[in-house]
Amino acid sequence: MIQRRVKVLPAHIANKIAAGEVVQRPASVVKELLENALDAGARSVAVIIEEGGKKLIQVVDDGLGMDETDAVASFQRHATSKISSYEDLNAIMTYGFRGEALASIAAVSQVSMKTRREEDEVAVVFQIDGGTQVSLSREGRERGTTVTVKNLFYNVPARRKFLKSANTEFRHVYDAVQRAVLSFPEMSFRFISDGDTIFQLQEGTMEERMLDVFGQRQMEHLLRVEETTDYISLTGFIGKPTFGQKTKANQFLFLNRRPIGNRNINHAVFSAYEHLLTKGSYPFFLLMIDVDPHRVDVNVHPSKMEAKFEDEQSIYRFVSTVVRKSLSTGDHVPALSVTGGKGEPGSVGMKFTERQHSDAGISDLDFPTSEPGLSFRRAIPAMPGDAIARQLLVPTAGPPTQAHVAVDREETHASLIWQLHNKYILSQVKNGLLVVDQHVAHERILYERTLQRFENAIYSSQQLLFPETIQLTPGEYSLMQELLPHFELLGFGIRIFGKNTVIIDAVPPDVKVGSESTILGELLAVYQEYQQHSPLEVRDNVAKSYSCKAAIKAGDSLTEQEMRNLIDQLFATRMPYVCPHGRPIVLKIPLDELDRRFGRT
Ligand code: ADP
Ligand code: MG
Repeated sequence: MIQRRVKVLPAHIANKIAAGEVVQRPASVVKELLENALDAGARSVAVIIEEGGKKLIQVVDDGLGMDETDAVASFQRHATSKISSYEDLNAIMTYGFRGEALASIAAVSQVSMKTRREEDEVAVVFQIDGGTQVSLSREGRERGTTVTVKNLFYNVPARRKFLKSANTEFRHVYDAVQRAVLSFPEMSFRFISDGDTIFQLQEGTMEERMLDVFGQRQMEHLLRVEETTDYISLTGFIGKPTFGQKTKANQFLFLNRRPIGNRNINHAVFSAYEHLLTKGSYPFFLLMIDVDPHRVDVNVHPSKMEAKFEDEQSIYRFVSTVVRKSLSTGDHVPALSVTGGKGEPGSVGMKFTERQHSDAGISDLDFPTSEPGLSFRRAIPAMPGDAIARQLLVPTAGPPTQAHVAVDREETHASLIWQLHNKYILSQVKNGLLVVDQHVAHERILYERTLQRFENAIYSSQQLLFPETIQLTPGEYSLMQELLPHFELLGFGIRIFGKNTVIIDAVPPDVKVGSESTILGELLAVYQEYQQHSPLEVRDNVAKSYSCKAAIKAGDSLTEQEMRNLIDQLFATRMPYVCPHGRPIVLKIPLDELDRRFGRT
């Protein structure tokens, strides 16, 4: 007999190979089992793990359950109840559809499933080891399904070896559970690791769930996003620009409730934060996109973690516009407040264990630190009678370019204003005290003005009575030549005089008398410094360098009129709350806060 070279692999080997794509680590198992529970219409789910899921993963749901035939069939590859024709793929409403998860998981672990439908008397218990059926029996159970996965990769030593420490695997599992928790606030969740309850969450609204997961303090750094058109809706939360994150861990994107990654959308969000975040920091966002499932393809990744949109460009524009709008209308003024001791108000639902706290980086958000005992919190309580302060501090709605803050002239002009240590401007507002950092405030004003000059190519300059000759280093000189057209648009009059020498005969009107000769050298130096940190667009870098160097400094004494002008101009900018490098400009100390500190309330 001829030995055939091409053979169809037996199911248990094929499944083991498929498992390579679907099951990377305990977290992938948790993700698949959670998805099945959600697809089964569960209202309440428990996830129990041991040793980061390496030893045990158990997902218990109260969903529809299965009868014996379905329970057995569910472990076969390509066995699914969720689609029956190829056309169904065009509009996936469930998490699963590939029919691969249970088969893949069972091929590389020891699995048992206990499941019962409402109408059945008892539950079916089905055991399967490395893809081979071991036993089938019956037991009591409420409606629903429990899947228990033991010793993942026990029969694939090469994969087992690559699993990380229990702590690391725990973190990945936590991430997977957190994503489900965040997309299904109407469900209750319990998460237990090595016998400790990591959290137990009651069903609630989206706000309540956010509060459970992130706590009150973090919530105060978030802005709401909400926009719906006939074709797409975008809802969720984004971090204020002052709430830059050191990592991308707190970026959540859900498409029709499915957690996904999509570089295009991430980029759309980043683009909205352009010039608002400090170098090297990332925005916080949790965004839910809902679109007609016909317009997306979720079948582009084996574990369904990516999705493709029919029209990526219009989604990009939509996301970036909506996020921009939220950023321009939000209240970004951090207010000083005392934290009320250990108990975080609002974090009632989520019970963190000791381990949770010590396991740094799991849910700890980095937020701006201040003195111990102080924290930032929402500035303006949404109560009537606070209208003037709100008018003063909150930009009116609309796209960023029109989002000017209505400064109540009577209010600022009548109010008292002081300069503190030639550094901060203090101003009395309706229900508190406004503190403005004079340097960064001026920096923001000049930055926007400069970008506008570049845009419109309109500039003005003041002629120097005595032109200055400036000696540059060869490096500065060549950079100078490169940037000359931009400097001219700023309002500089510069003539090349000879080798490494230039003559300045005019400067922009913002340049302070006496600093004409130094500003050029300083400008070139900062330009290079910024360039090293993160390559910026030339114009943007020139604008940032110029506004940094031409702005009034800490130490400059200001007249009352100068202070008032500065505040007026600041609140006429697009983003009066953060400087071009992402530092905060304005801080508010509410009267309430002072009252509390002096024991008046
Ligand atoms: P898929 O989810 O892609 O259909 P799976 O291998 O994850 O593939 O599951 C196969 C089938 O088993 C599902 O289509 C579903 O009918 C059934 N199933 C799996 N888990 C559960 C569960 N927890 N409750 C009810 N049915 C389930
Ligand atoms: Mg599934």
